[in-house]
Amino acid sequence: DNLFNMKKIIVVVNQKGGVGKTTSVINIASSLAKRKKRVLVVDLDPQGNATTGSGVDKISLTHSIYDVLINDQDIASVIVTTPQCGFDILPSNRHLAGAEIELVSIEKREYRLKNALSTIQDKYDVIIIDCPPSLSLLTLNALSCADYLLVPIQCEYYALEGLTDLLTTIKRLKSSLNANLELIGLVRTMYDKRNNLATQVSDQLVSHFGDKVFKTFIPRNVRLAEAPSYGVSAVMLDSGSLGSQAYLNITSELLERM
Ligand code: ATP
Ligand code: MG
Repeated sequence: DNLFNMKKIIVVVNQKGGVGKTTSVINIASSLAKRKKRVLVVDLDPQGNATTGSGVDKISLTHSIYDVLINDQDIASVIVTTPQCGFDILPSNRHLAGAEIELVSIEKREYRLKNALSTIQDKYDVIIIDCPPSLSLLTLNALSCADYLLVPIQCEYYALEGLTDLLTTIKRLKSSLNANLELIGLVRTMYDKRNNLATQVSDQLVSHFGDKVFKTFIPRNVRLAEAPSYGVSAVMLDSGSLGSQAYLNITSELLERM
């Protein structure tokens, strides 16, 4: 175990549903792949949206992340390559929903993912984890192994309240679970600058968090919404679209911060 490993594990978290976590994971992962980085996406959500969105059939998987967390299945045998997206993925499906309960009786339950990743992380430049919309035991597994926390924010009325809750929880977790976890940034998603409320919330976000807010924002863009139905990231499907361009730019900012 190399204590001086480069920091490379990013967890994408927001306990609020539908804010653009999965869309961010897939498109940042493909943007990194376009820059010749070796990328692993970890789908830690029983919904399996990152898996489907990468073109992997979640129903017909012989093994999934569930088996890695619960049955000590060799992680390398579960990882799938998605040539059309440019990255590898540790896939998920509904089985993972059961893991939440089964983990409770397992020793060191918060560190199952960390232990599994430690055996293969040298193969990758960046590992990016997609979380379910909750601060569950699954999410704790991601937070305990991550170097960086990336939070997508939809600039709506309750966004700041939710963000404060999230950051308070994470501050508490840092001392018990993972002292190295660092907030790498907040990404404004589905942003519409003609919407007054969105610009107000965005202004508040910047005044509270300053440079932690990525300069690039992700606009609402139909290419980002429809790409998953083709089983490919928007960045690979249509790199010229406004949504893809935004994710490519966010990724440049991300690499500067890493
Ligand atoms: P969950 O909490 O359920 O996992 P999530 O935070 O992962 O959700 P996504 O699945 O990425 O959110 O996005 C929610 C929905 O919004 C999806 O249908 C997605 O295609 C769409 N969407 C995400 N980002 C954008 C965008 N910038 N423009 C248009 N649609 C978007
Ligand atoms: Mg999701």
